[in-house]
Amino acid sequence: MQRKDSDFSRRGVLKGGVALAAQSGALRAQSKSASPGRKFRGWISRGAGSGRTTLQELTLRPITGRQVVVRTEATNLCYSNSSDVLGLPQPGFGPLPPGAPPRPLPPAAAELAQMALIQGHGGVGVVEAVGPEVRRVQPGDRVCVSGTPQCGSCYQCLRGRADMCQFLGRQGPSDLVPIADMRDGTPVYANSHIGGLAELMVTFEEWVVPVFTKASAADLGMVCSCVAVAGLGCTASQVLAYVQTGSTVAVVGCGPLGLSAIQGARISGASRIIGIDPIRARREVAMKVGATHVLDPNVEGDKLVEKVRELSNGPNNRLWAGGRDSGGLLGGAGADFVVEAVGADRAKPKLEAGPDPTGILPLQQAYLMCAPGGDIVTTSLPSGNLTLPAVIFTIGGRTHHAGQYGGANPMRDIPRFVELLDRGQFDAKSLATTVVPIEGMLGAYQQVIDRTTVTALMTA
Ligand SMILES: [Zn+2]
Ligand SMILES: [Zn+2]
Repeated sequence: MQRKDSDFSRRGVLKGGVALAAQSGALRAQSKSASPGRKFRGWISRGAGSGRTTLQELTLRPITGRQVVVRTEATNLCYSNSSDVLGLPQPGFGPLPPGAPPRPLPPAAAELAQMALIQGHGGVGVVEAVGPEVRRVQPGDRVCVSGTPQCGSCYQCLRGRADMCQFLGRQGPSDLVPIADMRDGTPVYANSHIGGLAELMVTFEEWVVPVFTKASAADLGMVCSCVAVAGLGCTASQVLAYVQTGSTVAVVGCGPLGLSAIQGARISGASRIIGIDPIRARREVAMKVGATHVLDPNVEGDKLVEKVRELSNGPNNRLWAGGRDSGGLLGGAGADFVVEAVGADRAKPKLEAGPDPTGILPLQQAYLMCAPGGDIVTTSLPSGNLTLPAVIFTIGGRTHHAGQYGGANPMRDIPRFVELLDRGQFDAKSLATTVVPIEGMLGAYQQVIDRTTVTALMTA
């Protein structure tokens, strides 16, 4: 029967609006329970040491409320999750005295280490079922399960800083809910409410972003990974700072995050893009995806900052003609926009090691190579404390942005980044240099920690 205009009564509109009424109808239609009792495979991490992660058969629990079940297509094997998967020592803050025992885990981390946890903090897949309160996605939708949630209603989301969404801080042992059981009845939890290293992810509405694309699982998994979203976030989301057309961008660290930042800088119209990394193979990928210059910090040594300033200079230093130079108390010229993406080594790399395994030296250099008036976005997990020349810090004109997720606004930016993939503007294949089925996850993670691959993805 055709709906008549008079069916939309004024009272009905006032009570909630036509759109909302239509949506609640859709809501009822999609209030479908998952298939509790369904078997699936997942990598369970528990205990200490290198054997802590094993592939297990699990039984799905029923879902409710705002929960979403996603059939995993691909998950990025993020370097920052490697300690938890491979049982490596957690990077501490500051060097340990020689001979000192490893630091004990903080209480929450120690409790998490004893729980049966599916690691992984992101992925892509297809929604299989949603709880009765879910509005954002429907069964059959392809989604990015975002490493950073976006609730849209907390203090941070409302002031435009979804990268700081307060749901991000609700991932401790008492926040997690059991999503499945092991054969012996042990309850299974999803790391970060995501747990990407499994055939199914059970997450919450706040973590899913619908993406409408026919891209392959590996390409979509790459562009939707935490590292690619963070890298593109820095230079293409324009939340924290703008990359200006024709400007000079320096990217310190050409892992998957830095290489995504380089692509974002290219897409945003930067003219000179300087990629800095000790690994030759990564410098080659940097040139392929958009860098105009690359530098090896081991070769440049303590001249690295000076070299970036030279590369950032204009054709001359005629100050009445728009020129600039490298002199002066505050450091003179430099890159207009710097992305720092190095961080601490979790294990000794098998390829070329950088000059400082704590990641502090590259962080100092990144700050100093930024031009007065420029912006620096930092993204990494270094180990230790940072010392900077105080005068440059106080009045040197650099604006520092501590860019969780590169400042990206997940619901707005992830579909945009997928569009960049679909239109051939973002090169996913050059970054996803290892793609393995679920059984190959541990071997692929070892390549990530050895840095013998740019990044690795597990498909399920
Ligand atoms: Zn990550
Ligand atoms: Zn929020």
